[in-house]
Amino acid sequence: MLDWGGRNLKDHGPAALIGECRECGRQGPFHLVTLASSRRRHLIHVVRYGFRYAVMCPRCTYGVELFGADVGRAQDLARATAAWRAGRISDTQYDTEVRWLGEKLGD
Ligand SMILES: [Zn+2]
Repeated sequence: MLDWGGRNLKDHGPAALIGECRECGRQGPFHLVTLASSRRRHLIHVVRYGFRYAVMCPRCTYGVELFGADVGRAQDLARATAAWRAGRISDTQYDTEVRWLGEKLGD
């Protein structure tokens, strides 16, 4: 489970419309989220130095943090989800994208 304290968390919408959260049993999409990371410097200045990415269950916050190439992959998947919902890509294409996330989540 991700413990991000709920601060600076931004929800980018569904990353994939896959199955069931194994932690809370929620049916429905995992969401792509980012957390703005900041670091206190010189006592008063807070410097933002980047974002952390994850795919997360919006109910219980079970999910996986993403690093490196996986971040781009998850963004592609979020785009593929939107495209699939709009009927622009086939079920087969979408299934290929989603399978990657299923493996990430340990299904
Ligand atoms: Zn859950």
